[in-house]
Amino acid sequence: MNFQPTFAYAQSLDKADPLRPYRQRFFFPKHNGKNALYFTGNSLGLQPHGVEKALRKELKHWREYGVEGHFKGEMPWMHYHKFLQPQSARLVGALESEVVVANTLTTNLHLLMASFYRPTKQRYKIIMEAGAFPSDMYAMETQARWHGFDPAEAVVEVAPRPGEETLHTEDILATIAQHGEEVAVVMFSGVNYYTGQFFDLEKITDAAHAVGAYAGFDLAHAAGNLPLHLHDWGVDFACWCSYKYLNSGPGGPSGLFVHEKHSLPRELGGNDQPLIRFAGWWGHDEESRFLMKKGFKPMLGAAGWQLSNAQILSMAAHKVSLDMFDEVGMSALREKSLLLTAYLEYLIENLNGGRRFNIITPKNPAARGAQLSILTGPEGKKLFDYLTENGVIADWREPNVIRVAPVPMYNSFKDCWKLVDMLRKF
Ligand SMILES: *Cc1c(COP(=O)(O)O)cnc(C)c1O
Repeated sequence: MNFQPTFAYAQSLDKADPLRPYRQRFFFPKHNGKNALYFTGNSLGLQPHGVEKALRKELKHWREYGVEGHFKGEMPWMHYHKFLQPQSARLVGALESEVVVANTLTTNLHLLMASFYRPTKQRYKIIMEAGAFPSDMYAMETQARWHGFDPAEAVVEVAPRPGEETLHTEDILATIAQHGEEVAVVMFSGVNYYTGQFFDLEKITDAAHAVGAYAGFDLAHAAGNLPLHLHDWGVDFACWCSYKYLNSGPGGPSGLFVHEKHSLPRELGGNDQPLIRFAGWWGHDEESRFLMKKGFKPMLGAAGWQLSNAQILSMAAHKVSLDMFDEVGMSALREKSLLLTAYLEYLIENLNGGRRFNIITPKNPAARGAQLSILTGPEGKKLFDYLTENGVIADWREPNVIRVAPVPMYNSFKDCWKLVDMLRKF
């Protein structure tokens, strides 16, 4: 692309943007009466206009039907998870039966590890990226402990090479191969929250399978950010939250994926007896759930990992967002995202030849999503405070990184231009 640094050029990109109308469907926080420059959709997505109406609808449902709301109305609560399955499946490239929305992210990570991390004395290692999101670090550490292993030995981290910030795929694959038959699970994030690096999930999955291990992914920063093909890649399990790129509100519910090869009974082509799991009544076979009898019989597919009756209010908000993602489609979003992120990168690099602000996110567009992580100099915190005072909502990570995410669903090319204009004036 031959970008130009002028404001008029940013305007022309906005004019040509087919997704431009979606910006009007979100509430932006205000700064001095004007829309703030919001660059933290990777942390908490903005509120879609439709959410309030969807919540009011469920409140009315509850008000008018009480407990009978489980069986009455357009979307009876008893089956609520089913109304979110088709869009969730398209979002992550899965079969409908392979996904369910339930619980919260870290809870699901533990539930999935309870099924897929069944270590033995010979095969007990978990391979993950160094510098993962803390919840994932704590989850893997305590999973190892729970099974009586020392995390210092059982949890193997793949770290960047000296002087580098991101990982080489070949180093990830080599680490998996090197630990070989000692590896039980490879658990990576899809996109690292700090660097914005998008990992090669298919290659990692193949490498895990080659040593007889499972591959699972935390897609918190990948879902709604990049097109995913979990089924075709053969990923064993995955989970994600709905409140980052997916705009479903603080503490929104999590999505969970289990490949059908693990959840189908043998007679339907699966390769397993139902996997062992920590079960609850909402994962129990619907036909017999209300007989309230002993003996857990899981629902087929990912739905069998549900624990509790559906969190209707937060799932109603999530449905509004999923509908919007479905309408736009991940390939159109990605198309805009590639252009938007490349444009922001160009503008930043155009300042001082890029020397003052060093982007640590991979330069290769295939290895990143919407986020750019900018390594700042010693004046970093001052710069961040200056941006905040001027109406930019971005994210500061110690010791000196500013993360910005130009989100294709609602950020504009002008937003990027204005942000970099402020950097220039600092
Ligand atoms: C945001 C995020 C979380 C947060 O987990 P919650 O259980 O939703 O609080 C966990 N892991 C990763 C990788 C994240 O990016």
